[in-house]
Amino acid sequence: MNYQQFFADEIGRLRTEGRYRVFADLERCAGRFPQALLHTPDGTRPVTVWCSNDYLGMGQHPDVLAAMAEAIQRCGAGAGGTRNISGTNHYHVLLERELADLHRTEAALLFQSGWIANMTTLATICRMLPDCVVLSDEKNHNSMIEGIVHSKAEKRIFRHNDVDDLERQLRAIAPGRAKLVAFESVYSMDGTIAPIGAICDLAERYGAMTYLDEVHAVGMYGERGGGVAERDGQMHRLTVIQGTLAKAFGVVGGYIAGSAALCDFVRSFGSGFIFSSAMPPSVAAGALASIRHLKENNPLRIRHQQRAATLRQRLSEAGLPVLPSASHIVPVLVGDPVLCKQASDALLYGHGLYVQPINYPTVARGRERLRFTPSPLHTDAHVDTLVAALTAVWRRLGLRQAA
Ligand SMILES: *Cc1c(COP(=O)(O)O)cnc(C)c1O
Repeated sequence: MNYQQFFADEIGRLRTEGRYRVFADLERCAGRFPQALLHTPDGTRPVTVWCSNDYLGMGQHPDVLAAMAEAIQRCGAGAGGTRNISGTNHYHVLLERELADLHRTEAALLFQSGWIANMTTLATICRMLPDCVVLSDEKNHNSMIEGIVHSKAEKRIFRHNDVDDLERQLRAIAPGRAKLVAFESVYSMDGTIAPIGAICDLAERYGAMTYLDEVHAVGMYGERGGGVAERDGQMHRLTVIQGTLAKAFGVVGGYIAGSAALCDFVRSFGSGFIFSSAMPPSVAAGALASIRHLKENNPLRIRHQQRAATLRQRLSEAGLPVLPSASHIVPVLVGDPVLCKQASDALLYGHGLYVQPINYPTVARGRERLRFTPSPLHTDAHVDTLVAALTAVWRRLGLRQAA
């Protein structure tokens, strides 16, 4: 077997389909977000970033940077171990308390990333609960799917945000059987928002647990940034709320929040928690400062939503195929992987605007798109430049007008 040939052939297949991933080599500029420097073989050039998940620019907030610098001076670089063996730093304890307070739960548990939080928690719960069946929204993120598959529990997929389909499937499961409904609040590729209250109603009626991924909502929705469940007054009804510290909070890391028993259970049985070194104390300190700042800063959330509404309106007025979205995410449909990459390249190299093409398997084939994430730091001038550039690129490449 020619192993190297196998690797190269598989990559070749991606290239043929036009969905080979090319990373933009960026140097973020603290204090100047959304500006960054793009490194190319011909040197560096300034670009405006339009697809960052640092949704509120907290990755450069002075409170966050100061907290991280102070923690490095006090505690050094790494945590020094797994949580069980010398790696629990006081910043981790404070951060878990802060997260439990944010979601008004008894407890919270930290992980190195949101991906690991989903993978570990779902794998652990669904593997250990006898004869558990998982009901999973068809658009759930890879990290949830991997956790469910790894648990080897039975999985049933319900149509995206479709409570009738979910109820049909719940009704068909034996009443006494352990059930878990896994879903997200904001779906990041479409910007759709789940009917959390209606799903909790069904879960109560059929005796199911609820597992809500609020990764694209924490920091951005709710009076204190507790997510869409907070905004909708449903936070107390969920069995597990899962979130990230890497998107609106601007740092890195993941977590779950829930009952003391649930968090202790995952802490005690979850391999992805137990056998991996704890996040650096400075990361925990930065996340703590970010959460505290956003808890008290609702005007920033309001401004964020206004920026998204403005961009959506301006793109529609320009006749660009904006997909309907109930959130801060603004997707524009291209519908072809090769053209999607070409549009992205034209914006980057022709206009200094960076938006990554989103292709299969992240979205379905034929639904390839550019996904814009306007932040409170994207000004009207940024929007003007973007709309003009998109209009020019759409005309030059002859892209579709209808969403
Ligand atoms: C990004 C993402 C994750 C993973 O979070 P990380 O902290 O980046 O690992 C989980 N769920 C959803 C829906 C995501 O988009």
